[in-house]
Amino acid sequence: MPSDQRKDWDTYFMDIAYMVSTRSRCSRRHVGAVLVQGKKLLGTAYNGAPSGVPDCSEAGCMIAEDYELLTVEGQEQMIKKQRCIRTIHAEQNLLLFTDRVDREGSSVYVTDEPCWTCANMLANSGIIEVVFHRAYLKDSRKVTDMMNQKGIVFRQLESYIPPSETLHQVQD
Ligand SMILES: [Zn+2]
Ligand SMILES: [Zn+2]
Repeated sequence: MPSDQRKDWDTYFMDIAYMVSTRSRCSRRHVGAVLVQGKKLLGTAYNGAPSGVPDCSEAGCMIAEDYELLTVEGQEQMIKKQRCIRTIHAEQNLLLFTDRVDREGSSVYVTDEPCWTCANMLANSGIIEVVFHRAYLKDSRKVTDMMNQKGIVFRQLESYIPPSETLHQVQD
């Protein structure tokens, strides 16, 4: 491959996050996250049930319903949403399986914009940058505000295109 076609680091690490997400057994959402220090990969994680207990492919998703305030065609509406709560989120698994000392000054690449709970935990984990691809609009504004307050670089790779073999239809 000519050097000018070589993948940049953002693409390289996001590709790995998408590859990791294919390990997920939740039929609703496949999320992958990787910990990177400089250009070194220090950890990988995906969303899943705790090891040793049945996962979504065995026991089915564990569905919780709640209402979200969404703006639809300029009107604020309460919309009923379903989520799977069986899994530990990829970002939380990443924190469970990496060391604090490795996280200090590191970046997290994650396929999906973190939810509020994961964002709060990442903000207190020692990392200094979060890079994501797919937006998660429900929590986006408050997550972005909090990352700004905390001084964590928070950026979306908008023109990034994931490897097609890693894609999975996201159910909302
Ligand atoms: Zn599930
Ligand atoms: Zn989360």
